[in-house]
Order: sequence, then C-alpha cells, then structure tokens
Amino acid sequence: MIVKKFGGATLDTTQKIKDLAASIKNQLSSSDDKLLLVVSAMGSTTNELIQLSRQITSHPHLREMDMLLTTGERISAALLSMALNDLNISSLSLTGSQAGIVTNQSHSNAYIQNISPWRVTEAFIDHQIVVLAGFQGVSEIEKNITTLGRGGSDTSAIAMAASLKASHCEILKDVTGVFTADPKKVTGAKAIKKLDFEEALTITFWGAKVLHHRSLQIAARHLVNIYVGPSLHDKQEGTWIIDTNQLKKDTPMYESPEFLSITSHSKVYKLTTSQLKSASEALNNFKTQLEQNHISQIQILWLSTKNNLIELFLTGPEESLEQINLWSLNQVDWELSPHIMATVTLLCRPSTSLDLQAKALSVLEKYNHRIYHFVVTEKAFHIWVDTTQKNAIIQNLHKELLTEHVTEKRVNS
Ligand code: ASP
Ligand code: MG
Repeated sequence: MIVKKFGGATLDTTQKIKDLAASIKNQLSSSDDKLLLVVSAMGSTTNELIQLSRQITSHPHLREMDMLLTTGERISAALLSMALNDLNISSLSLTGSQAGIVTNQSHSNAYIQNISPWRVTEAFIDHQIVVLAGFQGVSEIEKNITTLGRGGSDTSAIAMAASLKASHCEILKDVTGVFTADPKKVTGAKAIKKLDFEEALTITFWGAKVLHHRSLQIAARHLVNIYVGPSLHDKQEGTWIIDTNQLKKDTPMYESPEFLSITSHSKVYKLTTSQLKSASEALNNFKTQLEQNHISQIQILWLSTKNNLIELFLTGPEESLEQINLWSLNQVDWELSPHIMATVTLLCRPSTSLDLQAKALSVLEKYNHRIYHFVVTEKAFHIWVDTTQKNAIIQNLHKELLTEHVTEKRVNS
C-alpha cells in the first residue's frame, strides 16, 4: 500500500482539488487499491484561521486553537473525498481521531503515542480510498482534539505509513523536491536526487520547511522511505529520502567531502536575563512563561552564560514569535533584544572538513559578510548572521559553493 500526502499549495482552489482527484483516478492501478491520501489545509487557510483567532484575543488557549486549526484539514479531506466519489472512485474522509491517531495532551505540538487504524483498514477491505485530514489526532485520556505542530501533516502521513507498513510515503507539493536552497528565493537552486535520513533531519532542524522535522524522526526509526516531489508529474523529478545504507550503495566509495545544501532560520530572537541565578533556572522560568502565556513551538538554538547574564537564542513559527514580542513588553525578568539574527546552515556530505570550512569562510570574506559565529558540527556548518544580511549571504554561498558542476555531479551520482 502507498501513502500520498498533498501539501496545502496543491489544494489551493476547488479546481485544483478536482484536477488532483482526476489525476489520482488516472494513476490508479489494480495494485493500488489500498491508497491512503493525507491532506493539508487549502492554501493559506491555517494562517487565515490564526489571524481570525487574533481578532478575538492575542493569547488564545491552545486547546481552542487546536479545535479551530484542525478544521482546515477537515475541509480539504471532505472536498477531495467528494471529488473522488464524483469520479466514481469510492472514497471516505476521516479525521485524525477517526483514523485512530492517539496523541499526548500537548496542545498545538502533540506527539503521537499510538495508532489504531482499524477504520482505515476496514475501508480498504471495502475497496475505498481513505482521505485523512492531516496534522491532527486525539488525546488518549481527555479525548481532546490535538494538532501535531505547524507542518504536521507530514508527520500524520509518515506515522500512518509506518503503522500500515506502506512500501513508502510520497510527500507531494508544488515544488519538485528538496533543493540545494529555497528555489523560490535562490536562483540556480537545484533538486537533490537523494538524501539520507540524517541529512534531512539536519536541514529540517535548521530551518528547511520542506518536511516536518518530526516526520523524519519517525521515518528514520521505522525505515519509511520518503519521496518528495511534484503533485501532478511523474516520479523522476523529485527527491528520495532513504536510509544511509541504501544511499551508500549508489554513491562513489571514495567520495570527498562536498557541500549539499543551504538552509536558514530567518528570524532568531535573543532574550536576556540577569535576574535568574543559573541557566537551568532561566530555562525553567522561560518554559513556565511560555505555558502561562499559551505560546508554543519555540525552538531554542543556543544558550549562553556570560558572567551573570544568560542569553537564549530562539526561533519558531511567525505567530509564536509575534506572541514572544507581545509577551516581552511587560516582562521584568527578561529583555528581548531589538537586534534580530538569522542562521545559515551549510549541509555537507559525508561530513564537514577543514577544507570545506576554509572554502566557506573565504566566500564570506570575499563578499565582506560580517558573521557572529561559525559553528562546526559533524554534518553541517551553522553560520550566525545579521538577519538583514541573510539573503545576500545565502545567494553568495550558493553561487560559489553549490555551482552547476558541483550539483550535477551529485545529482548524477
Ligand atoms: N496546515 C498546517 C500548517 O499549515 C499543517 C500542515 O500544513 O502540515 O502548519
Ligand atoms: Mg498547511
């Protein structure tokens, strides 16, 4: 069986939904009669729903946000199922809860605890296609509706693929795969043919929006191969994300380290406190503040202690950063720096090296780019920069380090 997940941009309008249903019908073969389609909310519906809530209050309870936001995916699921039924393809839409996706109680960023997909398997026995509303589940004890975090439909799809032992999971979008840089912003960005789980985990932790980070954790643990590609075209164009051992088979044995891609967190906030005694006290205080103010999905990228100053560098979805801004206005313990930073991550294969580090630094110097930190890890360099410099830095690094011939070599390997 196959799981196919459709991103919001591919379901932007009712016409696109009808076209998608027609293309699903065309692709159906007899072996495909067990097909699970997972959908995101149409276009920018989720953001619009968030804005709607802000017209009521700037700090809505997260439980109510989950009630609101899950409607986006339910609309898509119902409409796609209608479109399929209209083409005489028997189809059934299900919410996460109906499909047996049970989560913990962490509203707006819930973790899947177990899956009992008996309604899905029953539908398959009846030769029905199932259209699952992504991004959502139900909490085990309280039976509250939960969401899996922004971008969480990928996690619904890959978790279902693992649970149903699908041969692989397809993540279908309006872009044609995972690129060397964001193709909407960087000219010359090219699709990467294959990545391993670890590489994909690194870039999604460091800002790549192409897949939900947590979906890759599930894929790596349960060895679910992922294909990321365009929703309407054929399979050749996209990117496969697979286990390292499989990737090794078709890469040269004696490879030299090379750059693979550039990703970025475009907004990193710095919060400072001198009021709290230790780093752990500061972190616990901040966590409590987040909970009390219904702010979720904050990712801390760096913590530093200088004399009695503790600094937290954090990022998160735009709506969470907006809430941090508002919260900071009446804070006594914490101060939000007006200065916004960004991170630029250069992923390397098979790992970073002194040689690659020297190359990256020389490009930054050639274009007189000022940087704050250059952090080396096994798989990547993380460069901390001023947010106003970020786009130029990405363009120049991409032009100099991920040029045509470098990419060609990799794509063809
Ligand atoms: N609609 C949700 C979001 O925009 C979930 C998803 O698209 O995966 O974050
Ligand atoms: Mg979405």
